[in-house]
Amino acid sequence: MRMTVEEVARAVSAKNDVSKYSDQVVTNAAFDSRRLKPGALFVPLTGKRDGHKYLPSARKNGAVASFWAADHPNPPKDFPIIVVDNPLKALQTLANYYRQKVNPKVVAITGSNGKTTTKDLTTAILSTKYRVTKTHASFNNAIGVPVTILSMNPDTQVLVVEMGMDNYGQLDKLSKIAEPDVALITMIGEAHIENLGSRAGIANAKMEITHGLKADGTFLFNGDEPLLQARAKKVSQKQLTFGDQHSNDIYPTQIKGYDTKTSFTVNRYPGKQFTIPIIGHYNVNNACAAMLIASLFSVSPEDMQKGLMNASLTQNRTEWMTGKKGEPVLSDVYNSNPSAARAVLKTFSATHTDGKRIAVLGDMLELGSDSKAMHASLAKDLDPKKIQSVYLVGTDMAALKAALADKYPTNAVHYYQADQLPQLTHDLEQELTSRDEVMLKASHGIHLEKVLAKITK
Ligand code: ATP
Ligand code: MG
Repeated sequence: MRMTVEEVARAVSAKNDVSKYSDQVVTNAAFDSRRLKPGALFVPLTGKRDGHKYLPSARKNGAVASFWAADHPNPPKDFPIIVVDNPLKALQTLANYYRQKVNPKVVAITGSNGKTTTKDLTTAILSTKYRVTKTHASFNNAIGVPVTILSMNPDTQVLVVEMGMDNYGQLDKLSKIAEPDVALITMIGEAHIENLGSRAGIANAKMEITHGLKADGTFLFNGDEPLLQARAKKVSQKQLTFGDQHSNDIYPTQIKGYDTKTSFTVNRYPGKQFTIPIIGHYNVNNACAAMLIASLFSVSPEDMQKGLMNASLTQNRTEWMTGKKGEPVLSDVYNSNPSAARAVLKTFSATHTDGKRIAVLGDMLELGSDSKAMHASLAKDLDPKKIQSVYLVGTDMAALKAALADKYPTNAVHYYQADQLPQLTHDLEQELTSRDEVMLKASHGIHLEKVLAKITK
């Protein structure tokens, strides 16, 4: 971005006179004083720590202006300060201003699982034809969305923004900041059910992504989900659906899984073959969602294929790595919840191997009062003929251990407390041979990335 302090002050209705510094230009917005780029507008956020304290460090690293909360004492006198009621709100207001100023087409993506993958695939496809800015990694919250918007080059044609939430009201706000032309819900799972009560509650909260949708915009959603079908009836904008069912506007017709990639055809483009550089039926669904978005931007199926194959994907999401003994390791350590774990177990169970398949599964956090039952329910997805050895870690995984007792020989199920990762790693390394395959999946709070780092090259 490129805005003068005066323009920023006007956009956020500053409470002070900035005319002394009016020509100073800011080129990015940042809240982490250690990691900001020169030219930054520093945004002192107040949470556990008070960001105002870090302004000196931000200045040292190149900040050229800063917001400052009106109720905060002693603003520096020798520096361009923009006084506002609340710096976070000012950041969001500025993002909405900049969104309107640059005026790209905005694509907003939410859903319980698959947001980042769909965002990356969509960006890859649209980039064959347009200048696209996308959310970095999963930077999808009340801070990440405005920072993403403000990171756009002024010549951006399409902005693809991931939106996350863990409670009501959050997507309402994010959607109104981004004012999407296209809003998409990948699927409804169980993530954050602790806060939202039920899958119906999750669906209600996800629907808030339509609250800022432009009147002439399009709402895209997973048509296999009855909770979304029912709620979409209240949305007045144009709608299109994706999913497996043949009632959807786009659905896969033939899927062929390989070791590291997946090929498929779709009803919409008969006779054309598409390939994604990732495995898993669910990633075909994510690709179909991305293709449906791209169809709104008149991208040809040839360009869709080019984009999909060259997609640059965010790490640790169903990513094959190589273990120390040369064995394939399927890393999915970034997050977990029942629907995502189920999807990955299904994919892993169908891989080609002449050795054993070994699953390392850690607690799925924030599932609320039914958490133990949801952990136990994964027993249905574990078949000793396909996954011969299971390593479980975390308090609630004890419920899955119990549920596996009838199915698995006792020496094939290994259980650890969350602080026993070194022991788990040791035992796993003892068991592993180069012919085996390992998959790891858990909520990020379990830190299976530590096990991953030890067992991979
Ligand atoms: P987060 O909320 O952590 O940002 P996300 O919604 O961005 O997650 P991704 O990072 O794209 O999701 O994928 C995370 C994991 O979710 C994948 O590795 C896979 O296990 C699972 N997953 C991805 N897409 C789907 C899908 N369409 N249906 C079910 N599970 C999925
Ligand atoms: Mg994400």
